Amino acid sequence: MKIADLSDRILKQDRRALARAITLVESARADHRAQATELLEHLRLHKRQALRIGLSGTPGVGKSTFIESFGMMLTALGMKVAVLAVDPSSTRSGGSILGDKTRMERLSRDKNAFIRPSPSQSHLGGVARRTREAVALCEAFGFDVVLIETVGVGQSETVVAEMSDLFMLLLAPAGGDELQGVKRGIMEMADIILVNKADGDLKPAAMRTCADYAGALRLLRKRPQDPDGFPKAMTVSALAEDGLQTAWEEMCALNDWRRQNGHWDRRRASQADYWFHEEVRQGVLARLQTGAARDIVGQMAAQVQAGEIAPTAAADQVLEQLQQSST
Ligand code: GDP
Repeated sequence: MKIADLSDRILKQDRRALARAITLVESARADHRAQATELLEHLRLHKRQALRIGLSGTPGVGKSTFIESFGMMLTALGMKVAVLAVDPSSTRSGGSILGDKTRMERLSRDKNAFIRPSPSQSHLGGVARRTREAVALCEAFGFDVVLIETVGVGQSETVVAEMSDLFMLLLAPAGGDELQGVKRGIMEMADIILVNKADGDLKPAAMRTCADYAGALRLLRKRPQDPDGFPKAMTVSALAEDGLQTAWEEMCALNDWRRQNGHWDRRRASQADYWFHEEVRQGVLARLQTGAARDIVGQMAAQVQAGEIAPTAAADQVLEQLQQSST
């Protein structure tokens, strides 16, 4: 199919065309990459935008339960919702934590929802690019909200935060009175901390955990992109579908404020800049792994291992040779 046709069908909200386009952006084949880039450029001209919400949390905190309840609430309000995932586990073991479609059975049957599991790629950079491009496709399609989910391990939160307008951190009630070892860097990324499972016997613990995190958030430096009261912590129950409406209202309030005060545009611009640099970096690294560059690096590595030259001196020589071969 011609790229212009695929583009038209996506703009007309043809779901099969969307699925096909996502498969295209997930492909690593050079000709597919070129087509994907052309398609994305086509669609960009239409300037459709969705609210992108990132959601992170460790396995078991209730991400899929939350996304299902929250997603169903949004579709009941008349919105179209897409769910995408960045799953670093699928890159390592081939087994995916987030990829299983049956996790959100009710939502996957909702005609106003679209769920796409994480692609299995060899590295997080690859997953990041594909997810980012899938987000762009979903925006062009006309979804109102795109939820981007990730497991809270390592770098994947940064990846998701850098492609979201709002970043949510989902936590479970703590057993003791300790904060749950959430890294400061991740707390600083969060716009709203949602303490899930605030129901039944767990409710008192959830309230305590929420108060602890609210206190911890107050100690963080005030960010210019936040109105008073943000970032904030609140309790929800994904299972009892409690607090979801309030959470949505808070998200909207924050997003509206940022839009009115120029922070929304600035955030998207700085994200574009981040991904541009990331792509250049990845491209340069990829070049090191092919052709003459790979041979030069390989030979020098052997000399370094044999103790014939120091790592820094060897690296300098490699960079010099690469420079010469590219001019
Ligand atoms: P994920 O691994 O983060 O996607 O977590 P799941 O959504 O699969 O939920 C893990 C477990 O927590 C399941 O047994 C859920 O039924 C349970 N769970 C999720 N949300 C809630 C909630 O709001 N309250 C309670 N009590 N349990 C929940």
